[in-house]
Amino acid sequence: MGASTVGTPEEEVTGMKRALKWLAVVVLVLALAVGAVFYVAFGRNRPIVDGQVLTPGVETVKDGFVSAFLLEAAPGKVALIDCGNDKQGQALLAALQRRGLSPSSVMAIFLTHGHKDHLAGCGLFPDAQVYALEEELPLIADKVRVTHPLRDGEVTGVGLLRVEAFATPGHTPGSAVYLAGGVLFFGDSAAGSKDGTLMPAVRLFSQGPGQNAASLRALAARLQPRAQEVRVLAFAHSGPLNGLQPLTSFAAQ
Ligand SMILES: [Zn+2]
Ligand SMILES: [Zn+2]
Repeated sequence: MGASTVGTPEEEVTGMKRALKWLAVVVLVLALAVGAVFYVAFGRNRPIVDGQVLTPGVETVKDGFVSAFLLEAAPGKVALIDCGNDKQGQALLAALQRRGLSPSSVMAIFLTHGHKDHLAGCGLFPDAQVYALEEELPLIADKVRVTHPLRDGEVTGVGLLRVEAFATPGHTPGSAVYLAGGVLFFGDSAAGSKDGTLMPAVRLFSQGPGQNAASLRALAARLQPRAQEVRVLAFAHSGPLNGLQPLTSFAAQ
């Protein structure tokens, strides 16, 4: 018989301990890296407050690290901006329930873009018409059926509500900003910082950061003459800001 390559039991235990120690170090480094990425991406964001009323009839629904928005459209009927990161839609269903509404009360969903954290709950509302910019369809089509592709500048009536779509490519090719109920909804195209300034889309998660900044400047120029229509700026991953001014200040930089 040749020499055995198996170590003594003591050696094997030591080897295993060493491997576990390295595994723990790798897991810790990974966790710190993920934490650092999230801190860089979202650390300056204003906090999201569940149930916050932005203007009469427009409510924030906090779904973990992302928000969706519920807009009164007609008696007993609402529209949504995005539908959250939770397939079970617990936060959205609770918000409907607080109003004595059900999933069939959702008439329309306006998607800001096709990332998963904004459309996971859409399947819960089978009666809703689904709107998104046509440029975004390639990112959405395999997850949610868009019933109404939109064009830049298009205005949609939902009950008494009027929803205007603005193309703001950059975060994704078909990212949309919507104006409805006095609120400008940015999705991930911008965020509100704790110091009250508007921040552009997070570079790390965006396809075209330069294009995103250009889209925000163009949007500021388009809306400047209508500034009195914009009472609140709402963002998917941060709390809101007041008035159009944070956008025009960003554009002036
Ligand atoms: Zn996104
Ligand atoms: Zn997002």
